[in-house]
Amino acid sequence: MPRTAHVLLAALVASSLSLAASAQQSTFSVGTATADRGQKATGFIDVPAGVDPGTQIPVVIVRGAKPGALLALVSGAHGTEYASIIALQELITSLDPTQMSGTVVLLPLVNIASFEQKVPHVNPVDNKSMNRFYPGKEDGTQTERASYLITKQVVDRCDYLIDFHGGDLDESLRSYAYWVVTGNAKQDAFSKQMALAFGLDHIIISDDRPKDLSATKYLDNTAAMRGKPTITVEAGYAGTVETDDVAALVQGTRSVMRLLKMLPGTPHSIDHPVWIKALGEVTSPTDGIFYPLVKRDTYVEAGRKLGDVTDYFGKVIFEARAPVSGIVLHICAVPSMKKGDNIANIGVIAPKAP
Ligand SMILES: [Zn+2]
Repeated sequence: MPRTAHVLLAALVASSLSLAASAQQSTFSVGTATADRGQKATGFIDVPAGVDPGTQIPVVIVRGAKPGALLALVSGAHGTEYASIIALQELITSLDPTQMSGTVVLLPLVNIASFEQKVPHVNPVDNKSMNRFYPGKEDGTQTERASYLITKQVVDRCDYLIDFHGGDLDESLRSYAYWVVTGNAKQDAFSKQMALAFGLDHIIISDDRPKDLSATKYLDNTAAMRGKPTITVEAGYAGTVETDDVAALVQGTRSVMRLLKMLPGTPHSIDHPVWIKALGEVTSPTDGIFYPLVKRDTYVEAGRKLGDVTDYFGKVIFEARAPVSGIVLHICAVPSMKKGDNIANIGVIAPKAP
């Protein structure tokens, strides 16, 4: 081969190598975190001050060595649902980008004020739940501004999303997943595979969430209505960080990553889970002191007494009873009871698998 051809071929090889190299090194950023392929990076989504103070939401990018799906993992919208927050900490440490395809974006603690001040259910800055105001508002209160930025920077850019929750400080909860059903058959079939791959053995069929894109309220629903197969998972309860709960969330995430071809191997999908078709919610009509009579994960018949609420002199003023037959998914874990507070959620078992 003449030398000139050698040079030409060498130039071609060099240019294709440099193309491959630039694809290998293509960076991905969320907020102030920027990761190259095969790298892990940390930073913050900066929520500027508005009608109330600003905040910073921690973000971690684990950018796999090879291209692939973009999976978002979000926890700590309720900053005292600790098992889910600790599970994401474990994933931040253990996910190895050099062994991964695709990219995982983790928001391990959306609601820092709740976590720091040990305030359940809401962001104490504006007293709003950080899982009820999606897709958010650029000029709203802190919760709304944070939700707006999470929608733009994470939800809109991901391919799949898992939202992590659990029993809050006052909730004794058995673990379960939500399968978010949108009506798009292809998407719903895939998110069902995600719910099964996650491996929790009770799955709520969540098909009654808002379809209005400007008022999707929940993070999972916001992602699902934007075309991203999504599940929500719940494990842990009442301020505890049990090894089994954390392990279930970590292993479940890894199994979904196998389904998405982000990790080698096959997912360990749950066989014949209990499908929950509806929830019976019991709330207290009065302030008082709560005395539970059943534990989480008990099967109760409709009418079964779940507990008593007394006044501050010990007189029973409300008998809480199961409105439907089903499984006690969670029950109030503390004596404090306020008018309108949740006492228990009963999961009604679907007659057949969807
Ligand atoms: Zn929660």
